[in-house]
Amino acid sequence: MTHDPYSHALQLTADGQLRHFLTLDGLGKDLLTDILDTADSFIEVGERTIKNVPLLRGRTVVNLFFESSTRTRSTFELAAKRLSADVLNLDISTSATSKGESLSDTLLNLEAMASDMFVVRHSQSGAPHFIAESVTPGVAIINAGDGRHAHPTQAMLDMLTIRQRKHNFEGLKVAIVGDILHSRVARSQIRALNALGAAEIRVIAPATLLPSDIEALGCRVEYNMVEGMRDLDVVIMLRLQRERMAGALLPSEREFYRLYGLSQDKLALANPGCLVMHPGPINRGVEIESAVADGPQSVILNQVTNGIAVRMAVMSMAMSGQVEERSRLRQESGAL
Ligand code: ASP
Repeated sequence: MTHDPYSHALQLTADGQLRHFLTLDGLGKDLLTDILDTADSFIEVGERTIKNVPLLRGRTVVNLFFESSTRTRSTFELAAKRLSADVLNLDISTSATSKGESLSDTLLNLEAMASDMFVVRHSQSGAPHFIAESVTPGVAIINAGDGRHAHPTQAMLDMLTIRQRKHNFEGLKVAIVGDILHSRVARSQIRALNALGAAEIRVIAPATLLPSDIEALGCRVEYNMVEGMRDLDVVIMLRLQRERMAGALLPSEREFYRLYGLSQDKLALANPGCLVMHPGPINRGVEIESAVADGPQSVILNQVTNGIAVRMAVMSMAMSGQVEERSRLRQESGAL
């Protein structure tokens, strides 16, 4: 498998706990299972009348979204609030960044307000990694999607949704369909499915929408969707990410839908009970038929609900990793 250029031990403490959450690269099955189990325990919190737990009480979480977002931003905000944190949502379009302030200067100012965690979405791959390298010790960075690189919390909420329905990953055949080339979601899903031991990860797309290293990531490539749907347990549809497409990579939307759109007919070729997933936003009639998106096999809205629990898990785990790291460093410097 090829290596993630932005990964390294930066996101782990000396004893292997999370302290930032930047990428799934380098995270093993045990840690991913730990995240899923912790998220499972927060599902019950979301079902209570009073949905708060005090794990981040007194902490300040800043949502720093340099790219637009609906689901990710609001579920991060809800997750932080359910952990009892104080939450600051920075509107970048009206902030100093739009007046020419550099990212580093914006961060220095926010750090001066004693922030404990930044949740970062940025159009540049590697931006959260860059911030994690320079941030004050004790401040956790959570990647909420960077360029085409990674969207690790999305992949983990997808894994939670799959585990709830299919119970384990061994033996599962999972396909990711559509615009893999521009998708940070697909990259993170592939890493998660590999680490958790899925039997097969299939990508179904035209050659123009596949990255050149796709086979090295451990995927089987299928250009024909009718062939590709056979014996699938899970099918994950992706949006055409036009904002990241430089040239014309497709003949037309109508042709794309005919060949790669998920219709009821194509879904019938998969295993009975095959789950239908999509990270959102969905484009009905472009990559998915409405009857499928709203149908009995669709778990698209369950993915959204699970996003809150997964984000609560990752935020609380990273914060406790930071606390432990700080006390270890304090002990070490006391011992000198
Ligand atoms: N919401 C996902 C992302 O942020 C997928 C998409 O935008 O199509 O990457």
